[in-house]
Amino acid sequence: DETATSQSEHIAQLDRSHVFHSWSAQAQISPLPVAGAEGSYFWDYSGRRYLDFSSQLVNVNIGHQHPKLIAAIQEQAARLATIAPSFANDARSEAARLIAELAPGDLNKVFFTNGGAEANENALRMARLHTGRHKVLAAYRSYHGSTAGAITATGDPRRWGSEPAISGVVHYWGPYQYRSPFHAESEEQECERALAHLRDTLMVEGAHTVAAIILEPVVGTNGILVPPENYLAGVRAICDEFGIMLIADEVMAGFGRCGEWFAVDRWNVTPDLITFAKGVNSGYLPLGGVIISAKIASTFDNVPYPGGLTYSGHPLACASAVASINIFKEEKIVENARTLGTDVIGPLLKQVADRHPSVGEVRGLGVFWALELVTDRETRQPLVPFNASGESAAAMTKFTAECKRRGLWPFVHFNRTHVVPPCTITAEDARQGIEMLDEALFVADEHYTG
Ligand code: PLP
Repeated sequence: DETATSQSEHIAQLDRSHVFHSWSAQAQISPLPVAGAEGSYFWDYSGRRYLDFSSQLVNVNIGHQHPKLIAAIQEQAARLATIAPSFANDARSEAARLIAELAPGDLNKVFFTNGGAEANENALRMARLHTGRHKVLAAYRSYHGSTAGAITATGDPRRWGSEPAISGVVHYWGPYQYRSPFHAESEEQECERALAHLRDTLMVEGAHTVAAIILEPVVGTNGILVPPENYLAGVRAICDEFGIMLIADEVMAGFGRCGEWFAVDRWNVTPDLITFAKGVNSGYLPLGGVIISAKIASTFDNVPYPGGLTYSGHPLACASAVASINIFKEEKIVENARTLGTDVIGPLLKQVADRHPSVGEVRGLGVFWALELVTDRETRQPLVPFNASGESAAAMTKFTAECKRRGLWPFVHFNRTHVVPPCTITAEDARQGIEMLDEALFVADEHYTG
């Protein structure tokens, strides 16, 4: 109706006048005013509903507006809305206990932050101080956040605008069988050669100068790259051999996304530090953190840790994490994510690939899937070039528009669309979303030349 339309226009106009948006050319965007959300859907002021196949920024794992999670936040707000990090607080203590209990090995202490970038920033600082070394190895196909250290560790083009930032970061190639940097012809070969490359990189950098290897156990935004079976164990062994700390960035992969509490659980690998954010409380409040091994934590038993944040362990954010983890357990959300992957999303996406020549590969697990779009299955030529934008990204822009026109909010990155709905999505909604995706893929097929 008219009131809703004028309300929506007013919000959009104020947004364009005063809000400065992330990663954008400010004059070229027109953000959609969102009126509300529930479960796997959100809607605008005209009542147009979208099935959220991106979980916003792959973080609303529990779905929108979970009533129990909302209630827990309201209850904590009424009881104690804030308290400084230097005090002990029940919500914070319980959140840390629950997270430590979920974490593998002797990772028993949690340093809370406001999000993923700050978590990685502090993990790097801890690893450097613990080892007394300065270098950090990070993957080219990675995103770790946009603060100085995290954006330097990031391998994808988002790093370019911040260079030079911190010193001592070296990038390496992780495994990616579909576009193998090692020209491997099997998963085993990809694994062996990726590990040999990592070892070579350490040789020429001087392993004794390297504090940490930071990696996404399943690479997220840069392609949902599920590692070969033995890769993470291989990296763990290399780290052990050279006294290097292994940092698992579980910001996107953790808390249900992979059908596990932590992605590393799938391969039984214990990192020295785990960073998390996003799914820990599905972004109902800003929260992230570092889970710290006993050994690294003990470095700071009698030496002060040189880092902190006004909102570290914020009681509202921590209360939402406690509630969220308990809801995950009660509603078996991690298990649901796993079976959605094996029984629903995976098989349906493989059928989609059978119908569309432009789908070069389907890969993923849990509620963490990618379709890689190509113009030729033989050459694997990407539908749009690496880091495409504007005219060169037109095919993906049109695909996105066709999804939205059908009521699906897709996640799109370069020549890929990622299927990353909430871990709580019903099988029926997942099926409907994939149907809309399937219909929109005619756009990609139009560009097929193979
Ligand atoms: N690490 C990974 C793997 C991510 O996907 C992200 C965000 O997308 C981050 C770190 C940064 O998290 P934040 O945006 O909360 O700083």
